[in-house]
Amino acid sequence: MGILEACYSKSGYKTIYSIWEELAEDLWMVNDREHCIFNTGLTKENASDYIKSVAAQFIVLLESELPEDFFHLSACPECGYIGKSEYKAINNPWMPAKLFKFIYKHSQTQMAICLKCKKPFPKNMSDYEGREQYLNKITNKLSNNGGGLNAASLPDAHAELDVIL
Ligand SMILES: [Zn+2]
Repeated sequence: MGILEACYSKSGYKTIYSIWEELAEDLWMVNDREHCIFNTGLTKENASDYIKSVAAQFIVLLESELPEDFFHLSACPECGYIGKSEYKAINNPWMPAKLFKFIYKHSQTQMAICLKCKKPFPKNMSDYEGREQYLNKITNKLSNNGGGLNAASLPDAHAELDVIL
């Protein structure tokens, strides 16, 4: 993991390498606090398999032409939407933001929701599962377990995703 983290700083902090930094942080979290921030489903027990999955996925991502705003995208597990998410205030959502700030002296806590179905907590691209959903969408495959990625179809799939987005 140390090497991969070093990759991130050597790459001039090219955003794609942040995947490893976030995974490293999560690995520390599951060992120390038994919960993680970025990667859905990561546990102390499955950590070694999880790292392998992330590595395999990472190679696919490097070969893909990712949109510049890749890490700003969200993937909704409920309705399959991939794109920008929306934010909703958690406390007193009926209260105008300025008034809330005036009364409570801080901004309202926001929660990410799906732009399409409004369900809370769409997965983002810092999450292995969010990226998996993205890749499945652009390769038009229900599952990418087994079977390699068809690189030739990628530019088409990206064009299609641009239309969807
Ligand atoms: Zn949704």
